[in-house]
Amino acid sequence: MEFIRLRCEYRTNPLGITETSPRLEWTLSGTKRGDHQTAYHILCASTPELLEADTGDLWDTGKIVSGNSTQIVYAGQSLTSRQRVFWKVRVWDRDDTASTFSTPQQFEIGLLSNSEWKAHWIGDDPDALSETPPAPYLRRAFDISNKNSKAVNARLYVTARGIFTAYLNGERVGEDDLAPGWTDYDKRIYYQTYDVTGLLRGGENALGAMLSDGWYCGHIGLTGRQNYGKAAEFLAQLEVNFEDGSQQVITTDSEWLLTHGAIQSSDLLMGETYDAREDTKLEGWLLPGYVADPERWKTPATVKPIDAVPLQAYPTTGVRRVMELKAKTVRELPEKTFLFDLGQNMVGLYRLKMKGEAGQTVTVRSGEILNPDGTLYTTNLRSAKCTDHYTLKGGETETYVPYFTTHGFRYVELTGFPGTPDLDTITGIVLSSAIEKGGEFTCSNEMVNQLQRNIEWGQRGNYIEIPTDCPQRDERLGWMGDAQIFARTACANFDVASFLTKYMVDVTDAQSPNGAFPDVAPRKGATNDAAPAWGDAGVIVPYTLYLCYGDTRILERNYESMKGWVEYIHGNNPDLLWKNNRNNDYGDWLSIKADTPKDVMGTAYFAYSTSLVAKTAKILGMNEEAQRYEKLFEDIRTAFQKAYVKPDGKIEGETQTVYLLALRFDLLTSEQRAQAAQHLTENIVDVFDTHLSTGFVGVGYLNPTLTSIGRLDLAYKLLLNDTFPSWGYSIKQGATTIWERWDGWTEEKGFQDPGMNSFNHYSLGSVGEWLYSTIAGIDFDPENPGYRHILFNPQPGGELTFAKGKIETPYGVALSEWHKENGKMRWTITVPVNSTATVFFPTDEREKIMEGDTSLDRENSDLTFLKTENGRSLYMVGSGTYRFEILD
Ligand code: BGC
Repeated sequence: MEFIRLRCEYRTNPLGITETSPRLEWTLSGTKRGDHQTAYHILCASTPELLEADTGDLWDTGKIVSGNSTQIVYAGQSLTSRQRVFWKVRVWDRDDTASTFSTPQQFEIGLLSNSEWKAHWIGDDPDALSETPPAPYLRRAFDISNKNSKAVNARLYVTARGIFTAYLNGERVGEDDLAPGWTDYDKRIYYQTYDVTGLLRGGENALGAMLSDGWYCGHIGLTGRQNYGKAAEFLAQLEVNFEDGSQQVITTDSEWLLTHGAIQSSDLLMGETYDAREDTKLEGWLLPGYVADPERWKTPATVKPIDAVPLQAYPTTGVRRVMELKAKTVRELPEKTFLFDLGQNMVGLYRLKMKGEAGQTVTVRSGEILNPDGTLYTTNLRSAKCTDHYTLKGGETETYVPYFTTHGFRYVELTGFPGTPDLDTITGIVLSSAIEKGGEFTCSNEMVNQLQRNIEWGQRGNYIEIPTDCPQRDERLGWMGDAQIFARTACANFDVASFLTKYMVDVTDAQSPNGAFPDVAPRKGATNDAAPAWGDAGVIVPYTLYLCYGDTRILERNYESMKGWVEYIHGNNPDLLWKNNRNNDYGDWLSIKADTPKDVMGTAYFAYSTSLVAKTAKILGMNEEAQRYEKLFEDIRTAFQKAYVKPDGKIEGETQTVYLLALRFDLLTSEQRAQAAQHLTENIVDVFDTHLSTGFVGVGYLNPTLTSIGRLDLAYKLLLNDTFPSWGYSIKQGATTIWERWDGWTEEKGFQDPGMNSFNHYSLGSVGEWLYSTIAGIDFDPENPGYRHILFNPQPGGELTFAKGKIETPYGVALSEWHKENGKMRWTITVPVNSTATVFFPTDEREKIMEGDTSLDRENSDLTFLKTENGRSLYMVGSGTYRFEILD
C-alpha cells in the first residue's frame, strides 16, 4: 500500500497552528481488493535529521494495532509556541507486512499566547478619518542584524483589524486575499503565519503592507460601517532565526512609517477608488533602498500595545484566487459604455487592462444580470455600490486588480475606457475558501449537470471566509439557516471540514449567555437571537461534520453550546411546543404559496436538535445525558403529535414542509407516517400540479424524504421539472448559479422585488446531497461515519441512462458510476482503502448480477452476501474497484 495524502488538521504541512494536540491523517492506495491497514506507527521528531534516523523524540507510537487512519490525535511531548514537528508514518497491511515510511511531513505551532507578541497595533488616527478613508501604506526598512550567520528560517506572523496585504522586499507575502478574515474581533483575532525565509536578502530589507477597513470598520451586512472599531490597524512580527541560534525580531511599532497612496478608498461592499498616479509618486516604496520623503511618510498616529483580545492562528486555508474566467463577449452600449459577459455568475475580482493618458478615469460597475434592454441591472445590489474607479498613470499598458473589495457578478461595465476594449481587457478572478474539490457529479441529463454546476458555483462564491447568504448586495452575512440546510451538500462538493469548523467558532463566539444562537455568525450586521432552523445550525453543522468527516472533536468542543441552545428553547417553552422566543421567526423562508405555521416548524426543529444532542451525548460516552435528551425528544414528539397531527394524519398547515419535517425528523407514529406520506404526495401532485412549494427549510428534505417513502418517481419529477417553480425553471432562464428565490425572474412578472432578489444564494441548492446519495448512490453510514463504511445505493430514475459520482472521503476517493443500456446496467464502484461498503443491487435476483463472468448467486470471495430486501440484494465489500453488470 502507498500513501496518497497526508494531512494535519485537514491541511498539508500547516504552519502556525493553535492546536497543541493536532490530528493527523493519511490515505492509502491499495493493489489488491480488500487491502486495508491493520496497524500503524507514527514518528514525530523535533528535527528532520532525527526523523530521517527513525527517531521520534517527540512521539513514537510504536506499532499500534488499528485500522484508523484519520482523526489520530497527537499525544506526544507537549508542544510549545513555534515548535516544528516533523512526522511520518508506516502501516501494516492485512498480511502484517509493513510499508515503508511515508515521505516526511511537518506542522508548526504558532504563537500560543498574546505574551509571545512584542508587536504594536499601528494605523491612522481614528478621529481624523473620512467616511471613505484611504488605505494606510506602511513600511519599515531594517538591516539583517547578524552579518556572520545565515538566516535559516523566517516567519511573518501578521494580522489586522481590517484586511491587509503584506510585502517583503516588494514580493507579496502568501496567497491569501482578505486576510485575516472575519471573526468577532472583540473575542478573537486570527493571524496568518508565513514562511518568508526565501524573501529575505542580505543587507537592507523592507517590510510593507497595505491596509483596509474590511469587515472590521467597513460596511457589513445591514448595519453600515464601523461595526467593531473606527479605523483599521495592522500588527506584524517578523522573526528571523540564524544558523548560529541567534534571532532578530522586527515588529510593528513607532519605527514604522505611514502614508497614503493609490488606494484612495476601499470597502468590501462599496468598491475601490484607485489613483495610479500616486504609484508613480511612491515608486519603489515596497523595496529596500527606498528613501521615504519625511514630508509624506510619518510615524503612524496609532501605535498601541496589544490588548487582551486573544490572537490565534488562522485555523483553515484562507481565501484564495481559485481560477480565472475569460470574457465571452464585449458589447458597446450608448455613451462609450462597454459591457463584458464572463458567461458565469462568479465572485471575486477582475483584472482590467488598459492604456491611456494620465488622469483618465475608468469606472467599473458589475452585476449579475441584465435589464430587458441589455444594460446592467444593479438594483438588487441595494446600497452596495460595487463600483470601482481607476485613474490611469499614463504611458505603458496598465493592469488593475482591486485590492480590498469583492463583487458578485457575471457582467462588467466600463465607462471612461480609453479607446476600444477587447476580450482581453477584462478577466474574472474567482475568489473562494472552497478550494479543494471534494466531489464530482455528472449524469446523462444536461439540465441536471447545469444544476450541479450552479450549486458548486453558489458554494464557491458564498464560501468566502464564512458561509454567506449572498456575495453581492449589502448583506453577505453568515446566515445560519442557509448554512445548516446546505451543509451536507457543501461537504460533498468541496473539502470544507476546517472551513466549517472555523465557522462553528464564529457561531459559538456569537452564542448569548442564555444559550441562544444568533441568526448570523459572526453576530454583526443582524444581531438578534436566532429563529427556528437558523439557530439550529449550531447543532446541525457540527453533527454534519461528524457524519461527513468522522470528526468527533467538533462534537466534543461544541457539545456544551449545542446543549445550551436546546436548553434555551426548552426553558422558554416548558410545554414543549416552541411558541415563545422564536425571535425573527422566518418560517420556511421564500416558500411558494405555502405558509408553514411557524410554531409547527419551530417545534419540529426543537425536537430535531434535541435528538442530535442526545446522539452526540451518546457518541461522547455521556449515557445519562443521552438518555435525558432522548426522553426530552420523545416528549417533544408526543407534544407535536398531540398539538399538530389530526386523526386523519393531516398536520397543521398542510404544507409540503410540515410533512417533510415530521417525516424526516421522525416525529410521527408509524400509522401517522403512512398518512403523512400520502398527504405529502397528494399535496405535491394535486395541489401543486406536481411541483414543489418549499422554501429554504423544506427544500433540503424534499427529495431525500420522497425517496425514503418510496416515491422516487416524484423526486425525479421535481428534479427534472422546468416549469415554475423548479430548479429547472431558473436554468431555462439561463441561471449559472442558484437563485435566492424560485421566482427571481419570471416570464409574467419579470424581476422579483429588488429589495431581496439575489441570483447567487446557495440554499435552494441543498438538493445537491441527493444527487450524490441517490442518483450516483454514494452515502456515508451514520453508524460508521466519515465514510468509514460507505453505502452504495444508486436509484436510477427519470430516464437517466448514466450517472457518476465521486467523493473525496477521509479515506480516499469513493466512486460510483452506472450506465443503463439495452436493459443492462453496468456499474463501477470504488471503495477506498480502510473503508468497507454495503452495496445495494437494484434486484433481488442474484443470478442477474454479474461480476466478470460470474453471477453473484455463486460464491465470491470479494463480496459477502448479506440479504435481499425490498427488491434489492445487499453485499458487503472491502476496498477496491468492482465492475458489475446487472441483467434485465
Ligand atoms: C438572507 C437569507 C436569510 C434570511 C433570513 C435574508 O436576507 O438573504 O439568506 O436566511 O434573510 O430569513
